[in-house]
Amino acid sequence: MEVKKKDIRALTKEQLREFFVKHGDKAFRGNQVYEWLWQKSAYSFEDMTNISLETRQMLEDNFVINHIKVDQMQRSSDGTIKNAVRLHDDLVVESVLIPTASRTTACVSSQVGCSLDCRFCATARLKRMRNLNPDEIYDQVVAIDNESRLYHNRPLSNIVFMGMGEPLMNYNNVLKAIDKITSPEGLGMSPKRIVVSTSGVPKMIKKMADDNVKFKLAVSLHSAIDDIRTSIMPFNSTFPLHDLREALQYWYAATKNRITYEYVVWDGINDKRKDVEALVEFCKFAPSKVNLIEYNPIDDGEFQQATSKAIDMYVSILEANNITVTVRRSRGKDIDAACGQLANKS
Ligand code: SAH
Repeated sequence: MEVKKKDIRALTKEQLREFFVKHGDKAFRGNQVYEWLWQKSAYSFEDMTNISLETRQMLEDNFVINHIKVDQMQRSSDGTIKNAVRLHDDLVVESVLIPTASRTTACVSSQVGCSLDCRFCATARLKRMRNLNPDEIYDQVVAIDNESRLYHNRPLSNIVFMGMGEPLMNYNNVLKAIDKITSPEGLGMSPKRIVVSTSGVPKMIKKMADDNVKFKLAVSLHSAIDDIRTSIMPFNSTFPLHDLREALQYWYAATKNRITYEYVVWDGINDKRKDVEALVEFCKFAPSKVNLIEYNPIDDGEFQQATSKAIDMYVSILEANNITVTVRRSRGKDIDAACGQLANKS
């Protein structure tokens, strides 16, 4: 009977060290192999030249090294790059490189498809769903870092978990990936340059606070009125605004980090004065920033971007209440790489 070999990159450093001790070797061997797997992105055990042949064979007998494969790379006229990433089981996710004058940001996926059902988001329509493993998240970042060096002559500077999926529904793996991204044996990036974006899972936001995480939090709010939010983000009936706000208060008390809200204003849905007033009321408990994101149409015109008059009203009322507000234009629309457009179309 053929034994199914384990993915060695699913092991933590500690587990690798224990593995070697169990096999009569030194724990330190685990550190060496760990460095090959993460910092040096080795694709085979053969590459691990400072490990004895015999040990490499033993690893080969026990494990496989899975890596993602960038199947297709599309470049937008504005410099944005979208990668279609094939996983070891042939499923595909997407990640995006977003360049600005001073930074390169990687927008990475945390799930194949999504656990949630936002009605304006293309990813929510994908049927298939599984969580990404830590190595699959890490590899997306490495691929974008390489592309940033190649096409923009600088390393990756920031990471946002705003690709496919709900990161807080795959919390453990997202945390493990961030651990490797920030560790010196991985990419050594500062956690302050990483933003995890959530539709708002109260229990997990509290857990993040308890776990004392160092990365930043963004919340896709879109409405501060329960009925409206439930109509566009149906899971809001399970996690209503009251619970979300309580969790965010807990998060702020623990971290003292400003909270960023992502917010699209749609015609006839959330473009009235009462909508802005509810938003002000919702976020005034802590220093807040509202990113007004441009809507990227995904289909039939059910949702339409609000008028610039409505956006101006949001900006002036928020500013009058000392809430920082930015109006963000989407990048990479010509290659379906903008917010909410990731759906494995090509
Ligand atoms: N599930 C997480 C991570 C996805 S981030 C979250 O919801 O935060 C993707 C961001 O794009 C979210 O803020 C989401 O609300 C927004 N978005 C989804 N569809 C969009 C669309 N069609 N146009 C603009 N933004 C969209």
